[in-house]
Amino acid sequence: MDFDVREMLVETIERYLDRFCRDNELDPVWGEPIVGFGDARSPRFQELRTVVHPEHYLPEDILPGATTVVSYYLPFTKDVARSNISGDLASPEFAYTVALTNSIAMELADEVATDIRAYDYEAEVPDGSRIEGDIVSRWSQRHVAHICGMGTWGINNMLITSSGSCGRFFSVVTNLDVEPDPVPEVERCSFRRDGSCGVCMQKCRVHAITPGGFDRWACDRNGDAARARYGGLNVCSKCIVGMPCSFRDPSR
Ligand code: SF4
Ligand code: SF4
Repeated sequence: MDFDVREMLVETIERYLDRFCRDNELDPVWGEPIVGFGDARSPRFQELRTVVHPEHYLPEDILPGATTVVSYYLPFTKDVARSNISGDLASPEFAYTVALTNSIAMELADEVATDIRAYDYEAEVPDGSRIEGDIVSRWSQRHVAHICGMGTWGINNMLITSSGSCGRFFSVVTNLDVEPDPVPEVERCSFRRDGSCGVCMQKCRVHAITPGGFDRWACDRNGDAARARYGGLNVCSKCIVGMPCSFRDPSR
């Protein structure tokens, strides 16, 4: 392709976020987005049917003939993260940011897809909502982001990007002709790399994070108080604020 697709998509996302904040007279709650590309035919997508859920979508299910999955990361600002460091319950600022991010997700993804289509490529937005009665999705944005080379797993089940892990991932399935990004070879989580750190483990008051693995059900149950306080929103994220991996890659 004769133009920088990554740059174009970062600009699309930034333009959308700027316009959204301006039109709604809001202070920005997001930092600089990151964009990654994954090979839509990678066998890693098939593996998600074992790792995540047997009915996890393949890129081909979203867009027949898909070649490239575009994943993008919206980091929250440091102020938003800082607001959530103390207390057992998620801070109102953090809950607001999560809810706001959820509310713009589809419109932003549609804008990304529309800009890709403007260059005569196809693009479709996957449905990343949870499977009814379960706590996983048929399109797990974090697992997809991992395949798109966006980062490696922390023991807190978050993906650590080059700008950290305090933010949200989204994606669009396309037939763009771009080189996929490799999955980083070096473990970014210090505990996974050499057994050090473990701060997130100490921070989680329900012990969902242990050296033996992540208990997603314990984590989900801990969201009950937040659901009651924030109109059904399951938000905690105490393990991704004030951490060495919140806004940077601790392996660097
Ligand atoms: S806080 Fe430390 S142990 Fe936890 S995910 Fe981040 S780097 Fe890994
Ligand atoms: S989100 Fe909250 S409950 Fe879940 S692992 Fe992190 S600190 Fe623990």
